[in-house]
Amino acid sequence: MADTNGVELSSPTCFVGERDLHVDAARPSDVRDLNIAIIGAGMGGLGCALSLAKKGFKNINVYETASGLGFVGAGIQMAPNMVRILDRLGCWESIEKTATVVSGSSIRQGSTNEELARVPMPNIKELYGYPHTADHRSLLSDGMYQGCRKESAIKFHFATAMTEITSLEGQPTFRVQPRGSEPYTVKADLLLACDGIKSETRNAILKAAGAEGVEAETGQAAYRIMLKREDMEHDPEMKALIDSDEVVRWIGEKRHIIAYSVSDHSIYNLSTTQPDKNFAAAPSATYTTRGDKSVMMDVFGDFCPLVHRMLDLVPEGEVCEWRLRMHEALPTWTHGRAALLGDACHPTLPHLSQGSAMAIEDGAVVAEVLALAPDTKPETLARCLKVYELARKEWCTRLVELAAFSGRTLHLGEGKAKEERDRQFAEAKARGEGVVPDKWASPEVQKMIFSNDCVENIRRDFDELYKSLEGEVGVAA
Ligand SMILES: Cc1cc2nc3c(=O)[nH]c(=O)nc-3n(C[C@H](O)[C@H](O)[C@H](O)COP(=O)(O)OP(=O)(O)OC[C@H]3O[C@@H](n4cnc5c(N)ncnc54)[C@H](O)[C@@H]3O)c2cc1C
Repeated sequence: MADTNGVELSSPTCFVGERDLHVDAARPSDVRDLNIAIIGAGMGGLGCALSLAKKGFKNINVYETASGLGFVGAGIQMAPNMVRILDRLGCWESIEKTATVVSGSSIRQGSTNEELARVPMPNIKELYGYPHTADHRSLLSDGMYQGCRKESAIKFHFATAMTEITSLEGQPTFRVQPRGSEPYTVKADLLLACDGIKSETRNAILKAAGAEGVEAETGQAAYRIMLKREDMEHDPEMKALIDSDEVVRWIGEKRHIIAYSVSDHSIYNLSTTQPDKNFAAAPSATYTTRGDKSVMMDVFGDFCPLVHRMLDLVPEGEVCEWRLRMHEALPTWTHGRAALLGDACHPTLPHLSQGSAMAIEDGAVVAEVLALAPDTKPETLARCLKVYELARKEWCTRLVELAAFSGRTLHLGEGKAKEERDRQFAEAKARGEGVVPDKWASPEVQKMIFSNDCVENIRRDFDELYKSLEGEVGVAA
C-alpha cells in the first residue's frame, strides 16, 4: 500500500474513509508487531527508529516535515556515550571516517587569546571504550539514516508534517499533511515524538495531562559558522587551529566561542554564544534569523585579533543567528501511549555538547523498555513509556542544569566569582587535572557523562522501575 506521498506503508494498515489511515486495526499480540509512529527525523527520531528496528520492531513509520536530510546544520561533538550507541546500532564505522578525534581542550581568554587552562584528553577511548569526536552534523544524521534504510521495518514519510494531535486518549491519533497532497489521519499503537525544540506534541501531551510547561529564559543566542580550509591556511595561527585536534573555547563576559575542526580538517566550525538581543522582542515562534555581519563583529569587538580574523571570513549575508532555548523540567514526558524524546522534552543550552547525545540515548532506552514489555495491553505500553521517563528524566535534567551552570560560569564579568573561576583554571592548568570550571572539559564531568551506558542501565533497572509503577499508570492508555 502506498500513501499519498508514494511511500510504502507497513503491511497491517487499512484506510478508513477516503484519506484516513489506521495504522492499527487490531492490537497485535507480539510487542514487535506494534505500529509505532515517530514524529521527526532529526537526531532523536533517526536514533529511535534505528534502535527499535535493531530490537526487532517491524512497523515503524517516521514522519518528517523536511523533504530530506541534506547537508544542513553545522558541526557537532559526538561524545563517547553517544558513540557507544551508534556503534551498537552498526552505523558508527561510516560516521567516524572523517570525524576529528578530539585530543584535548584549550580554554582561552577571549580578549587576549591567553590560555587559561588546557585539558589533555589523550586516553578517552582507553577510559570509556570510545573516542570523543567532532564532525559535520549531516554526517551523523546521514550515518543513522543509511542505517535506517537497511531496515525494511522503517518507512520514512518525508515532506509530511504532523499538523495536529487529535487524540492521546486510547490510540494516539494525529493528522499529517504531505506536501502537495491531501492530509490524512494516522492512528498508531505508540507515538514517539522527536519533533525537536518547537515540539507541537509537547503542547498536546502537557494539555492532555493537565500540565503546563515553562520555558526558561536563557537570554542567549548563537551564531554558527563554518570556515573553509582554503580561507584559513594562508594565516599561520588560523592554519594551526584547523590542523589541530583540540576543541578551543574563547571566553568573555556574557559571551564565548567554541571551535573545532571537522570533515577531515577541511572545515573549521565555530559556535558562539552571546546575549540574545534580536529575538527577545520577536514572536516566540522565531528561532533563527539572518544576522548582520557588522553586529556580529561588534558583539566580539573586544575579542583578540585571531577571533576577529576568523569572524571576518564569514561572507556578508551569510550570518545566521539562533535563539538558544531551554525549558524547566517538564511535569511529564508521556501521556498514555505517547512519549516525548530529545529536545521535545529536555531542550538544553549547548555548553555541554550533549543535546543530540541525550536524544539518541532516549531512543535507545525507549527501544529497550518497549522490547521488555511483558504484553501489548495499552496500560502495559503506557507503563513502559513511564519507565523510560523515570529512567531518563533525572539524568537529562541534571545535564541541562549543568550546561546552564557552565554557561553562567564561562560568562562571568569582573568580580570575585570570576577571580575564583580563573584561579581554578590556573590550578587545573598547573596540575594538568582537577576541577575545570568549563564543565564540558572537566575530567570529573567527562567521567560521569562519557561512561554513561544508558542501555546497560535500563536493562539493569527495568524490573524495579516497572514494579514501582504498579497501579499508577492506566489513565489514557
Ligand atoms: C549551537 C548548538 C550547538 C550544539 N552542539 C551540539 C553538540 O556538539 N553535541 C550534541 O550532542 N548536541 C549539540 N547540540 C544539540 C542538538 O543539536 C540537539 O539537542 C538535537 O538536534 C536534538 O535532537 P532532536 O531529534 O530532539 O531534535 P532535532 O534534531 O531538532 O529534530 C527534530 C525534527 O523534527 C522535525 N519536526 C518538527 N516538527 C515536526 C512536525 N510537526 N512534523 C514532522 N516533523 C517535524 C524537524 O523538521 C526535525 O527534523 C547543539 C545545539 C545547538 C543549538
